[in-house]
Amino acid sequence: MLKYKEIIFASHNQGKIAEIRELLAPYGVNVLSARDLNLPDVEETGKTFEENAYIKALAAARAQNIPCFADDSGLCVDAIGGKPGVYTARYAPNRDFNLGMDKLLKELDETNSKNRAAHFSCVIVFAQPDGSYKSFEGRVDGNIALSKTGSAGFGYDPIFIPTGFSRSFAEFTSEEKNKISHRGRALQKFVAYLIGEHEN
Ligand code: IMP
Repeated sequence: MLKYKEIIFASHNQGKIAEIRELLAPYGVNVLSARDLNLPDVEETGKTFEENAYIKALAAARAQNIPCFADDSGLCVDAIGGKPGVYTARYAPNRDFNLGMDKLLKELDETNSKNRAAHFSCVIVFAQPDGSYKSFEGRVDGNIALSKTGSAGFGYDPIFIPTGFSRSFAEFTSEEKNKISHRGRALQKFVAYLIGEHEN
């Protein structure tokens, strides 16, 4: 059990909220989201995943006057200079990730590169209302598939094949994905920190 019975995850993204709830359920923590609390969406003006996660976590922590955490994540594709990176959500036309995947597959084809290496990155920031914070990083390496497969997960899952597997994240169960995903790995570090905090 952790010090917190309830914790606020400053996100409106339903896919992420579902993953985080599942990841924290074994610790008996109830996750409230920015969506449940009707917190306004904040503009992600940072240049790094950490800056953006901090902006979101701090806005929620100040609005609720309790510590809150947020994540920022994205897909970085080597052959196109690490794009879309921090702009992953905005890269998709009208935030339609189906269109976003088509755009990415086309952009990658146009490079004529055989290099399809990519990784998902995630930074979780746990911020206090006074502005102090801790951050936790996770990453999963893989390749961009030639086409979309699978229907589980969210975002760019249908075109991401993690290293050591021959199926996309959209063909993983949520339990399998959480074990190796960027968000799962960042969250494992965050939970270890919360457990340490509890014991001190
Ligand atoms: P943000 O962190 O809210 O700025 O959004 C990052 C975007 O990256 C998401 O909207 C997704 O499109 C994409 N993304 C982040 N994590 C994942 C994942 O686990 N699977 C698929 N797409 C993801």
